Amino acid sequence: MEARLLAYAERQAPRYTSYPTAPHFTPRVNAGVVNGWLSELGADDTLSLYLHVPYCRQLCWYCGCNTHAARRDEPILDFVETLLREINLIADASGNHRVVEMHWGGGTPNILEPHQFARIVGKIAQCFDISAIRHHAIELDPRYVNAEKAKTYAYAGVNRVSLGVQDLNERVQQTIGRVQPLEMVQHAVDLLRAAGIAEINMDLMYGLPHQGLDEICHSVRLAAAMRPTRIALFGYAHVPWFKKRQRLIPEAALPGTAARFEQAEAARAELEALGYVAIGLDHFALPDDELTRAANQGRLRRSFQGYVIDAATALIGLGPSAISTFPQGYAQNVSEPGAWGQAIAGGELAIARGHALSGDDRKRRRLIEQIMCDFSGDLAPLGGAQACGRELSDLAPMIADGMVRIEQDRIELSDEARPLCRVVGMAFDAYAHRAAARHSKAV
Ligand code: SF4
Repeated sequence: MEARLLAYAERQAPRYTSYPTAPHFTPRVNAGVVNGWLSELGADDTLSLYLHVPYCRQLCWYCGCNTHAARRDEPILDFVETLLREINLIADASGNHRVVEMHWGGGTPNILEPHQFARIVGKIAQCFDISAIRHHAIELDPRYVNAEKAKTYAYAGVNRVSLGVQDLNERVQQTIGRVQPLEMVQHAVDLLRAAGIAEINMDLMYGLPHQGLDEICHSVRLAAAMRPTRIALFGYAHVPWFKKRQRLIPEAALPGTAARFEQAEAARAELEALGYVAIGLDHFALPDDELTRAANQGRLRRSFQGYVIDAATALIGLGPSAISTFPQGYAQNVSEPGAWGQAIAGGELAIARGHALSGDDRKRRRLIEQIMCDFSGDLAPLGGAQACGRELSDLAPMIADGMVRIEQDRIELSDEARPLCRVVGMAFDAYAHRAAARHSKAV
């Protein structure tokens, strides 16, 4: 790998599923503010619902998600009851809106028993209009998929499933604390397809311990042979000071930055050779997939669910740590399930923090989204290239290297710079810039 690329790849940059990113949220957005935002939704406004199930049967050592181990069923029973109350609270504050998208994430959404899942969907159908739902997606752990659950999802209208696969080499699986042989993943796929769910995504990871180019390419080939309609390829983020369970990952077995970059590139080449189209930073899809068509037509958007096609007026996050996006700004629920449950039991939304968007935020958010989705963007709303002196001076080395081009108030990334779109986006992040300035002064 060239030294100049390595220097950029080593920089830390957010994934920009929101702008500003969650670390810049503050308690100024509280339950009162969010009740106001909910009541301001118009009769024709549509909703997307995100349901966060904050439990897993056991914790994988590499995991960076907001989740807790639940070996007993009691916490899950409490979670279901509280979630039903939270749905009521949201509906009371917002009215009976049309829901066009639903997405279950976690944690492990398939930790829920079929009757619990069906009860929650029933409550949503009671409180909102879900007759014209376009996408109903769920993230599943292949180790806990069975025929009854697959049929329940299909019956409830689930039309897209995302399977956590990560890697298909036994040694890597053992080192990350998640053993799921290929046959188990294939069985989950077969059950879902037999139930009538054809849209299957698989999440893969590079940068894991004991992964080399052979291992990542082996996993990619095995995953692609199951012909999922989409594959997401994420880089493992090793942050043991933030996620204590990652201390179980042997650091000496982790690939370095140059090796990670090469793994991402090798996996990308392998996927393209196997008929997948690269989309945005880390997604791949079959040529006839909706996401591919949207990318070709410049209709990709960026949200907390990653790359999406069209956004509803508001995304409502339900469950501990879930984040909502309103036209006015962002709001995040408290992360700890006990505190979330207490607030809801008291008849209050469990909002911990958020951010009300300013005019400047909206312009920067759109530009960063364009860079993340289309690898190009329009500087005119920020006043054009002339008005972006600080931002373009941050990018000066990339401009000098020919990786970023500025022409008539448009910014364009070269093919080589595409994996670095987060770094380019960060140049336009006013909050990251201010944080850096504070840090510099402190030193
Ligand atoms: S990776 Fe998935 S299954 Fe594993 S602990 Fe994290 S959320 Fe749970």
